[in-house]
Amino acid sequence: MYTASDKQGDYAKFKQKASVQSAHCQGAWAERPTYLNQVNHMLPNGTSIEKVILAEPRGFCAGVDRAVEAVRSALRTFGAPLYVRHQIVHNRFVLEALEREGAIFVEDLDEVPEGQRVIFSAHGVAPREWERARARRLRVIDATCPLVTKVHSEVERYAGEDRTVILVGHAGHEEVKGTLGVAPGKVVLVGTVEEAEALNLLDSNRVAAVTQTTLSVDDTSEIMATLKRRFPAIATPKTDDICYATQNRQNAVKELVAVTDAILVVGSRQSSNANRMVEVARMRGARAYLVDSLADVEPAMLAEVHALGLTASASSPDWLVEEIVDAFVSRGAAVELLKLKEERIHFPLPKPADA
Ligand code: SF4
Repeated sequence: MYTASDKQGDYAKFKQKASVQSAHCQGAWAERPTYLNQVNHMLPNGTSIEKVILAEPRGFCAGVDRAVEAVRSALRTFGAPLYVRHQIVHNRFVLEALEREGAIFVEDLDEVPEGQRVIFSAHGVAPREWERARARRLRVIDATCPLVTKVHSEVERYAGEDRTVILVGHAGHEEVKGTLGVAPGKVVLVGTVEEAEALNLLDSNRVAAVTQTTLSVDDTSEIMATLKRRFPAIATPKTDDICYATQNRQNAVKELVAVTDAILVVGSRQSSNANRMVEVARMRGARAYLVDSLADVEPAMLAEVHALGLTASASSPDWLVEEIVDAFVSRGAAVELLKLKEERIHFPLPKPADA
């Protein structure tokens, strides 16, 4: 652990050590892209920040790393243009970087010219999208996170057992749209305890429940408890659908709350994972803010803060975090690492599968 008593000059060594895990799963994403101008950071002079406490694990998960590398590897192998259905992951810096390399992001497969290559994003798609791709002779690379695919398989199995499947998740999120589409008409969406209480089903003995992968662990367990009380025969998967990365990042935020005066979560507004991390901190009474990058850090967020917690959502590259750390270190802050556990999960790249 790097502590407040260590000299600022040792920070480079600490940084190298602390980044080993992130770099392990981030490849080139561990560093700021060269095309971006160095930011002229806006931190006020004379902030009260004495130390920055950096959570680990944070940032890229195995599913995001795989999806991003799938795009880059396809660009290397097949060249541009390469179409990507939906934002490959919810982070604007990652999207901008991939666009510069030749990726074209579309929301609808109709925007992809017939016969072209298209990548499905980490959030997954409904089977109907595969049919549409086949109809247009698109060559598909499926970057759906294997942990989302696991949820799709559960829905398929439960629907095949003639159960109504309750999907706990947020309406409109890309992952939820895909999961609902696995068994159209057989999956109902529930987003809150109140909705779980109000749910009316024709046959309450043939029910199952699955969840979106990036939910708040605490909120979801309340909803699941409600469903289990209302439908005692409900079937649920053996292992959690909320993925390891979401759980680890939320657990790290809970630890940060206890030792900091405020918390910055690096992530984009569209990222479910990032928003849940902020909520988890706020639910515990912490001052927590979502920032896309150093440019979003405002003086009001730092007022009267001595120990600042810093973490990043599963779709945020680590260079965004390091830039914030560097800015505080240059103003005299020390850095501590709050390490919860080591993540060593890695998913192999998807193979091109012509639709
Ligand atoms: Fe997969 Fe979880 Fe990462 Fe989503 S957050 S891509 S489910 S590992």
